Amino acid sequence: MDCYNTSDLISIEQALEKLLSQTSAISDVEDVALTDAAGRITALPVISPLNVPPFANSAMDGYAVRLQDITPDAVLPVAGKAFAGSPFSGEWPAGSVIRIMTGAPVPAGTDAVIMQEQAELSEQGVRFTAMPAQGQNIRLAGEDIRQGAEVLAAGVRLGTAELPLLASLGIAQIKVVRKLKVALFSTGDELQPVGTPLQEGQIYDTNRFAVRLMLEQMHCEIIDLGIIRDDPQALREAFKAGDLHADLLISSGGVSVGEADFTKQILDEVGKISFWKLAMKPGKPFAFGQLNRALFCGLPGNPVSAVVTFYQLVQPLIAHLSGDTHWQPPARLKAKAMTPLKKSPGRLDFQRGIVSANAQGELEVRTTGHQGSHVFSSFTLGNAFIVLERERGSVKAGELVDVELFNPLLRF
Ligand code: AMP
Ligand code: MG
Repeated sequence: MDCYNTSDLISIEQALEKLLSQTSAISDVEDVALTDAAGRITALPVISPLNVPPFANSAMDGYAVRLQDITPDAVLPVAGKAFAGSPFSGEWPAGSVIRIMTGAPVPAGTDAVIMQEQAELSEQGVRFTAMPAQGQNIRLAGEDIRQGAEVLAAGVRLGTAELPLLASLGIAQIKVVRKLKVALFSTGDELQPVGTPLQEGQIYDTNRFAVRLMLEQMHCEIIDLGIIRDDPQALREAFKAGDLHADLLISSGGVSVGEADFTKQILDEVGKISFWKLAMKPGKPFAFGQLNRALFCGLPGNPVSAVVTFYQLVQPLIAHLSGDTHWQPPARLKAKAMTPLKKSPGRLDFQRGIVSANAQGELEVRTTGHQGSHVFSSFTLGNAFIVLERERGSVKAGELVDVELFNPLLRF
């Protein structure tokens, strides 16, 4: 059992509900070139300016024919050629066919395209070994996308599925929601930036590095306020700077109840706390509140806790604030625990595990080992969270558990 009362901790579901219901998406819009739009979010629905394909064209290399000319014995002369990018433009005499390549516009009057594998070519012309059906091997204009149709909704993050589609429509500029501005700092007298030697009792600042990477993945504009000493005045200044320049301020450390933990105290002073104690592990002290302008999230100091709370709480918040209305949390799947998992009832656990499929295609999961909230290597060893319900105790090998495969925030 955890050796403290957990009944005053709010559940992660309640926390998420507050994060999303007490905040609203930014609405400023900017125009960007399609080539700069990767990861951005559509501000408006995108309407197709074209038919795709723009004209009826051949799906095969073969012959464009009129059905009335085709009989099993007919040998028909070839009256011309149609290539992709170089249409047939001459007269098409009755009783002849046109040689045509994939993607070439079908000449007016074409009923079907017969593929070349079903044609025998001789000096006199072509004979077909199969009879065509009306419309065969013709891709119709607008068959894929009709001019005027909505191809993307508003609130969609633009990636490899979306951007080439817009390119195929000739869309060169697109209206997107402006980037969310996120300021961040780490707190702690013990912290040093990477690249400087450590003195006695110092450690490197892992969290700012981790949070930066995750913010980059979410295409935020980052304002890095550095490492802030455990000093109320320095913290006050950092809060002020974040509030002035960002939509969201994220700190790490100093949200516990130790003697150098001033983050919550300053938040109390300069803003309004919504909640700061969660029934989750790792990550019990996680503060959320409102400053004058900006929102504030205070991540716990332990690096695993900082990453897990960012992933589980700040990620959906940022998606929401950025106007990404299609963001989905990673799917929870059932897997068989292949190793015992230690747990005390009272908090929802996000342990790190290694998920694989067995020969029958069933999911299995093994622990990454030590689950301490300072053991960052559990992320490099693992590929999934093992999500253990709040009231559940230890898990025996063979029990079913929920798992959540890491998304690109943790695994590119
Ligand atoms: P705190 O929440 O400030 O009490 O920090 C909890 C633990 O996390 C302490 O062991 C800190 O040294 C450690 N810690 C806090 N911030 C960081 C950071 N940015 N990088 C690595 N460890 C940290
Ligand atoms: Mg600290």
